[in-house]
Amino acid sequence: MNKIYFSLAILFLSSIRFINAQNNISDLVLTNAIIINNVDGTLQKSSTIQIKGNKIIKIDTNAYHLSKKNKKTKVLDLKGDYVLTGLWNNHSHLSDLLPDTNSLLENESAFSAAYRSARNAADALKAGFTTLRVVGEQKFIDVALKKAFDENVLVGPRIIPSGNPISSHGDGDWLVKSAKGLDAIKKAVETNVESGAEIIKIMVDRMKNEEIKVAIETAHNLRVKVTGHASNEKARIAINYGIDMIEHGYLLSDKTIQLMADKNVFYDPTIVCNLSADYIKERENRIKSAGFISSKDVIDGRTLVAYADERDNTFAKKQRKILQKAIKAGVKITTGSDSNPISEIGLLEIEQLVFSGLSELDAIKAATINSAEAMGMQDRLGTIEVGKLADLIVLEKNPLENISNIRTLKMVIKDGKLVNLEKNEGEKSFWELYILKK
Ligand SMILES: [Zn+2]
Repeated sequence: MNKIYFSLAILFLSSIRFINAQNNISDLVLTNAIIINNVDGTLQKSSTIQIKGNKIIKIDTNAYHLSKKNKKTKVLDLKGDYVLTGLWNNHSHLSDLLPDTNSLLENESAFSAAYRSARNAADALKAGFTTLRVVGEQKFIDVALKKAFDENVLVGPRIIPSGNPISSHGDGDWLVKSAKGLDAIKKAVETNVESGAEIIKIMVDRMKNEEIKVAIETAHNLRVKVTGHASNEKARIAINYGIDMIEHGYLLSDKTIQLMADKNVFYDPTIVCNLSADYIKERENRIKSAGFISSKDVIDGRTLVAYADERDNTFAKKQRKILQKAIKAGVKITTGSDSNPISEIGLLEIEQLVFSGLSELDAIKAATINSAEAMGMQDRLGTIEVGKLADLIVLEKNPLENISNIRTLKMVIKDGKLVNLEKNEGEKSFWELYILKK
């Protein structure tokens, strides 16, 4: 009898060992890769990244040998391609359209807007954006899509939803939740958070000081960060009340910039909203000279978007100066497209940071680690490290040499899964469907 128990015990123990060994097998391995360190700009050549489930479990410079018994692991030989942590777009709207040439927003149902948003987000993932922080969306479409993507009902990026932006004077703005008085502001913040918002966006410029204070305090009590659409004066007031980030930052003074640096307030400059005709031309030439001429639809579409929000040259110049000053002062910059489609305008925004005087590394930091840090998610995302979530992009060329090389995308891995980059089943592009449609 004892012998039987003894054998059973051995069998039991070895089965535990077997299970453990199985558990250590990676699901996905990227080998022969050049890892881009997005913090210091160094390259780690001949690297292997092992992924198990949705996490990075090992990084080394040894060649990876797949044992014959191991039929579970998928090994991808990158043949010297570059691996960068996944891109973020920190100022997204999923359903918004600027310009809205066909008055779509007035006439469509929430369901139609949601389908359009899902397509926009899915296209963004296929362009390398593994995380979208939404800062203003109608009817909690962002919350619904987050759920659909997280639960793998649809394939899409990580979504950080905000619900409607909040303001006390939002009448007439289709997107803004108008809340009159301090109680209403408090309630609006609470309702957004109860409905699934993970960030609160307030329209600082249109609010009284007390209202700004209440919005920030309410959100912080619920452990939710706050960002504000803000120009200089109101930005400074919001910063003193403890706001976490500033969007656009129109005409920020040196004093406000210094305050942002001192209080570690992140800045999302949305340069796409501050282009003059000269800058639009310059931008197109730079992309063309880097060898990235895309389809006519894309060029026409993005030019239309840029002109829809065009500023005069003096203003555009000032915003570029402000961005350069912010970097110099040590303000952490993030990157967001504001306009749609995120896939194209998001990439443009990263490029425009460089065209506006940032280094390639600073632009990449803005689109990765800084954006993760702004949300307090740097323990899980933002760099390629063991233990972090496996959100990665594979590029044929080094974006530290030329920022437009973020367009040489070959693979996207989100949450440990390889994304199918084939064209969407729907044959029409975003441009054809929603912007250029007659
Ligand atoms: Zn916006």
